[in-house]
Amino acid sequence: MYDYLIVGAGLFGSVFAYEATKRGKKCLVIDKRDHIGGNVYTENIEGINVHKYGAHIFHTNNKQIWDYVNNFAEFNRYTNSPVANYKGEIYNLPFNMNTFNKLWGVINPEEAKQKIKEQRNAANITQPRNLEEQAISLVGTDIYEKLIKGYTEKQWGRSARELPSFIIKRLPVRFTYDNNYFNDRYQGIPVGGYTAIIEKMLEDVEVRLDVDFFEEKEELEALAEKIVFTGMIDQYYNYQFGFLDYRSLQFETTVMDKENFQGNAVVNYTDRETPYTRIIEHKHFEFGNQDKTVVTEEYPMEWKQGLEPYYPINDDKNNKIYKMYKELTNNESNVIFGGRLATYKYYDMHQVIGEALHAVSKEFKD
Ligand code: FAD
Ligand code: UDP
Repeated sequence: MYDYLIVGAGLFGSVFAYEATKRGKKCLVIDKRDHIGGNVYTENIEGINVHKYGAHIFHTNNKQIWDYVNNFAEFNRYTNSPVANYKGEIYNLPFNMNTFNKLWGVINPEEAKQKIKEQRNAANITQPRNLEEQAISLVGTDIYEKLIKGYTEKQWGRSARELPSFIIKRLPVRFTYDNNYFNDRYQGIPVGGYTAIIEKMLEDVEVRLDVDFFEEKEELEALAEKIVFTGMIDQYYNYQFGFLDYRSLQFETTVMDKENFQGNAVVNYTDRETPYTRIIEHKHFEFGNQDKTVVTEEYPMEWKQGLEPYYPINDDKNNKIYKMYKELTNNESNVIFGGRLATYKYYDMHQVIGEALHAVSKEFKD
């Protein structure tokens, strides 16, 4: 009946469905949630596009991917510049001359570099082996203690010494007075929210919501020639090599009867004691001037069955388990695995789109 059964109406599944439909294929997209969009889903509350699953800022260096998403929406000029609140002290992020000046009173790049060098030498780090050593080696112990350690240990529920260094390398370290959180050439927020992008992608595609693949696996598999699977890889293989770890989140959203709560879209709480990692004030993503405001606190927690698996934990233990599952996927000729959960990768949106377009060109040999 269908050429493709696509499990997951997130970005990967939606890009694949759009491209396959464009090539004359018949697709059925299912999602266990009651809406499309996966984690990029936005919902309008009080005239404000609320990022229901955490702040999503689109950024990429790849012109093709930027042009691609611009086919589905207009992007505004938003530049992400979060601030960190450490016990009431406010610092600019990512780590740049504004941060160094506030912390140490240094004025020019050479003084900042000298300060970091002293702290790195005192810590005696030559080859960073984990997130803590990587962070100290990049920005020194003061910044590590105030802006990284507490946030990281809350976010991941593990000591920074047990975490891979690549996680901290996501953040730029700059010796200029530039608070842009990303180095990428293109950045913005889709005017009207992300859900509208996914709606456009799925305009001509049959979608069934509130359908869990694993609850009707045999019937669903019988409907299509091939499957595109974007759910959890360990669940697909019935956890036969054990459970992969994920971090989950709880979002506490409040509508406030005031115009401006925190003056910025993203404020990170970098101490260990505050139980949430960040507060998002959604209207600032689109420079909103509504009378009310909507804010969301983000509480990290360990994933267990029944919770949403938001972040893969790419430490050695989990990467080893993932590798075993990955080997099984190599024997599947009728299933395509893609997206953050099926490939167990800490992917951003542009990477998921890139991966989906790659899967499309491989599948349709164009
Ligand atoms: P998902 O969006 O997770 O979609 C998978 C879909 O599959 C889900 O809708 C799920 O319900 C469905 N599904 C799973 N299992 C089943 C099943 N058994 N049956 C039916 N359906 C199923 N990226 C950026 O570029 N910039 C950002 O600022 C950014 N911020 C983020 C903040 C947070 C808090 C999080 C968690 C992620 C953020 N990301 C960001 C990453 C971004 O969300 C992902 O890269 C992208 O959404 C992944 O798309 P996906 O299709 O792989 O997965
Ligand atoms: N991080 C930190 N302090 C901050 C912001 C980030 O220590 O104020 C670290 C933390 O370990 C986090 C990682 O940098 O998990 C990556 O941050 P990013 O903002 O990219 O995380 P995401 O938005 O994907 O949750």
